[in-house]
Order: sequence, then C-alpha cells, then structure tokens
Amino acid sequence: MKNIVVLGAGTAGTMAANMLTKEKVFENWTITVVDKNNDHEYQPGFLFVPFGMMPAKRITKSRRKFLPKRAAFVQEDVVAIDRDAQVVVLESGERLPYDQLIIATGTVPRPDLVPGMEDGSLWYDKVFDFYTLKGAEGLKAELKELKRGRLVVNVCEMPIKCPVAPLEFALLAQDYLRKRGRGFDVDVVFVTPLDGAFTKPVASEALGHLLAERGIEVVTDFQIESIDNERAELVSYDGRRVHFDLLATVPPNHGSKVAADSGLADEADFIEVNKHTLQAVADPNVWCAGDATNVPTSKAGSVAHFEMDALVPNLVAAVQDLPLTHSFDGHANCFIESGRGEALLLDFNYDQEPLPGRFPIYGVPALRLLGPSYLNHASKMGFELVYWNMLLPGRPLPFSADMKMDGKIVPEDAR
Ligand SMILES: Cc1cc2nc3c(=O)[nH]c(=O)nc-3n(C[C@H](O)[C@H](O)[C@H](O)COP(=O)(O)OP(=O)(O)OC[C@H]3O[C@@H](n4cnc5c(N)ncnc54)[C@H](O)[C@@H]3O)c2cc1C
Repeated sequence: MKNIVVLGAGTAGTMAANMLTKEKVFENWTITVVDKNNDHEYQPGFLFVPFGMMPAKRITKSRRKFLPKRAAFVQEDVVAIDRDAQVVVLESGERLPYDQLIIATGTVPRPDLVPGMEDGSLWYDKVFDFYTLKGAEGLKAELKELKRGRLVVNVCEMPIKCPVAPLEFALLAQDYLRKRGRGFDVDVVFVTPLDGAFTKPVASEALGHLLAERGIEVVTDFQIESIDNERAELVSYDGRRVHFDLLATVPPNHGSKVAADSGLADEADFIEVNKHTLQAVADPNVWCAGDATNVPTSKAGSVAHFEMDALVPNLVAAVQDLPLTHSFDGHANCFIESGRGEALLLDFNYDQEPLPGRFPIYGVPALRLLGPSYLNHASKMGFELVYWNMLLPGRPLPFSADMKMDGKIVPEDAR
C-alpha cells in the first residue's frame, strides 16, 4: 500500500486531507496527517479578540473533528524529513514512510530574531504580538488600561502571513479608542518596513489615504534593528527611534524548522515550489501549500484554498505519470477591516494588482472592491462560518479559484 503524509493539520493540511480522500485514485492509499497538537485555531479571530469582537474561547476547536475519518491523525512533532529514505521522522523516533509528501507547516512567529523583543523586560508587559492567541488576549487587557500615549502597531519584516492584518489592527484600534470618548488621548502609529501602507501600489495608495483620514501616523521604510526596553522605543538600522506606550508587533515570520532543515527551503525557511504546480522545485515527490510555500502572493487562508484546486489534481496526475495540467495563478482575496462597521476587499493574483469595482458571487457583481462597505464587514465576520464549514472540508466556494476580471474597473492607462 502506498502512503501520502501531510505535515501540518492547519488550514492547508486539513483541506488537503479532505480533498485527497475524495479522489478515487487514492482509494487504496493510506493518508496520514501529522500535527504537534490537536488545537486548530481560527487565526483571523486573533484580530478581533483584543477589541472584544470575538470571544477567545470560540477560536480553538479539535483538529480531529475537521479531518476526514479515513485519514490517520498522528499528534506529534515532526523533527525531520529524510528525503533519501522518503521518511518523516517524529519526535518519538517513529518513522513514517511516504510515497508523496505534502508540507503544510505554515509560518512561525520569531520574536527571538529581534534583539530586545522576546528577551526584553517589556515582552508581554507592554510589547505583544497579536499573531498568537496569548498575545491577542494580552493586548485585550492592556488596551482596556491604555488611557493616553502612543499605541504603536509594527511590522518587523516581510513576508508575513495575512499582510493586511496589521493595517486592520491599527484601524480597529483607532475606532475602539475613539469610541471611548473624552478623558482618553491615545495616538495610533503604524510602523512598517515598506515604503507605503501595503505591498501593491494601487491598494497602498487607497489604504494610505484611509490611515491618514483616520489620523493614524505612518512611519515607512523602518527596518527594525532592536527594541530599547529602557526607553520603550523601536530602533531602526538607520538610527530612527519610535516611542511606544503599548506595542502591537508582528515579529518576523519564518517557515518551520522542519521545512528549513528539509533542504528544500529558501533563506526565510519557505519551501521553494513551482508557483503554478506547487510541486517542490528540488523533489517531485514533495508538494507544499499554504503559508509554508515561497509563492509570491499573500499568505492567507483564501490562498491555501485556491492552491488546492491546482495541487490536488496535479498530485492525482503525478501518481499516474500524467502531465501536470492545473496552474495556480496566485489568486488571493483579503478583507480588510477598516473600523466603523466597514471593511474593504482586495482581489488580486501574481499578475494583476488589486483594482476597484465589484467582486462577483455566483457570477453577480456583489462586494465592493478597494473601498469600505458594511457588506464587506458582514462577509468578513461571516467568514468564520465559511472557514469551519466550507473551506476546511474542501467544499467549493461561490466563486472561482482563478482570479476573474469580471466586475473590476481597469484604469484607462492600463488598458
Ligand atoms: C491575525 C491574523 C489574521 C488573519 N486573517 C485572515 C483572513 O481574514 N483571511 C485569510 O484568508 N487568512 C487570514 N489569516 C491567515 C491564515 O490564517 C493563514 O494564512 C492560514 O491559516 C495558513 O494555513 P497553513 O495551513 O499554511 O498554516 P497553519 O494553519 O498555521 O498550519 C500549520 C500547522 O503546521 C503545524 N506544524 C508546524 N510545524 C510542525 C512540526 N514540526 N510538527 C508538527 N506540526 C507542525 C502547526 O501546528 C500548524 O497546525 C490571518 C492570520 C492571522 C495571524
């Protein structure tokens, strides 16, 4: 009997297992999913916890519940991939042989890479990440106490998963602090290594305007060198300093250690794949999906979902020695909470940056693109249900995995 092993039972690994078990060609294969724990966290919820918009207890569910019955679930740390022997090595020393391997180990926040962050006296006192549930809960408590001063939201380096989440945090924080009214005086400052609010020029301009309109100061091109804990300041390599009373930071995001050690990863520990087929560049028996890849698009749950529409049929073809015919186009869609009960929607791929217009649902132009709307906010809040009930089980969504131009407004000079 042949084996598929899936490393990681997060968004991508769970979807992969669900979709692979539906394929006839794998009827007689064993499918094994490995994860270090049984806690599947709904990560988009980390953004809402600090502002009391989502209870922390709703975020975590049992991974097993969302995996197909036919797949075996092994709860253990993966310590190595022995590619010569085609074996995955677990912490207990057990070795899982594979014929095909899917790496879906996501990203790891690395506060240890910034001097003065994890090892500083302000860590989890005035300095918090919000890409972990613990950090999000810590921020919730601190935000309640913050009466005056500077709330700094900072991105250490790119790429990070969900690159819009820090912007959303700044906008939601400004709204949260505004609503508390008189007697409170807190400035929100957004500090980024980029030269604007976002990576893509048109979206960056629109988002930059929104931040300015809301009175959020933006500090650009800030390459963080360290945190000065005595003075509560971020320090950049070019000597600039930004003072904070409370810091919500996104530490460097790297790939997992096991990915780094696989011999298949780039210098940020992300697996080098063919960006269209999702097959590892250096090993045809290894595939990768979700945040663990080095594909040049956003690291997002939506991306992991769209990737599956290429990865699964390509894997089905590969095991039958057929050509790989499915191509992932880099499609990403991201809701951006902008506060005041509204959100923006971005839709883009490798070649097309986000444009204004309407995003089609069941072919009908429905959601506003690149501009705030209540319906976008309602859809973002509703995404939680879609995530558990449609995305993870690998059910089709009411729009295409390939990005469509229908409903988009192309600027005159780009036609
Ligand atoms: C604050 C925030 C907001 C977000 N908002 C959105 C949003 O609105 N929309 C959206 O589409 N996306 C959003 N995302 C991004 C989305 O959550 C991720 O892109 C998605 O979860 C990636 O899935 P993944 O399977 O690649 O990684 P993960 O879901 O992180 O899964 C990786 C798994 O690998 C396991 N693992 C790692 N190493 C090992 C090992 N050595 N041994 C065993 N197991 C291991 C981990 O335990 C984990 O379960 C957000 C993320 C954050 C942090």
